[in-house]
Amino acid sequence: MEHRAKRSLGQNFLIDDNICRRIVDALDVGDDSLIVEIGPGKGALSRFLLQASPRKYIALEKDAALAEALSDRYPQARVRCMDALQFPWEDLTGRVQIVGNLPYNIGSRLIWDIVSRVQSYDRAIFMVQLEVAQRLTAKAGEKAYGALGAWVQSFAETQLLFRVPPTVFRPQPKVMSGVVRFTPLGVECRPADPVALSEVLRLCFQKRRKQLGNILRTRWNDELSQWFAEEGLSPTLRPEALTPRQFQGLAARIVMNNA
Ligand code: SAM
Repeated sequence: MEHRAKRSLGQNFLIDDNICRRIVDALDVGDDSLIVEIGPGKGALSRFLLQASPRKYIALEKDAALAEALSDRYPQARVRCMDALQFPWEDLTGRVQIVGNLPYNIGSRLIWDIVSRVQSYDRAIFMVQLEVAQRLTAKAGEKAYGALGAWVQSFAETQLLFRVPPTVFRPQPKVMSGVVRFTPLGVECRPADPVALSEVLRLCFQKRRKQLGNILRTRWNDELSQWFAEEGLSPTLRPEALTPRQFQGLAARIVMNNA
């Protein structure tokens, strides 16, 4: 039976083999790699992924009808009908590659969550709408830089690999898409206190046009003043001036003050 795309699940299916191949080629699949695909849909990417790693492939698909059809088509695949946000990302070990043409309505939420929860992976390749791809890869000081970029880049190096036009999907989305590569940072570079970091990022970027000194007014004290001086930063700067690493330092100093 013909599947009707569900807008609520962000279903825009890829119909172009070349784009699928380019996405799969961007992974670094070794013989022993486990591939986790988020939202396999009708299996446009799955076919190529299963060719690359036939024995170690898990697909997470929320739509029960699509999950069942994929499982029937590829009995060797482990297809789990579930919300990818509920997957135990923390438990993955060994060589892991994560890939997905993500549902656009929750793409940034999924990435925010996954990069911080997954402890072990070699590479992730995600397709998202281009505007989100630009936010994921923007550097401090750039227009698209915000909480999402600073958060994700605290855990992984990101690179926009290529842009994808609406014409390669059915149904066609209204906007361009982008494919982004994530390479995890070493454990020693990851934020010591992710909860504090996320709170500081949300606080600062809620008011991104305000100066940092103003945003942090209620927390201001000698310690914070000293941190700005040590970093060579002025409190008159706006949040977008701080690098992900500086946000981690700021979060750590604020936590220290509250202890
Ligand atoms: N990979 C397919 C392709 O490229 O043609 C489908 C991509 S489509 C943009 C997104 C897919 O994610 C859909 O199949 C949708 O049902 C699924 N999906 C939506 N929300 C999900 C969630 N929370 N967890 C897992 N899958 C989800």
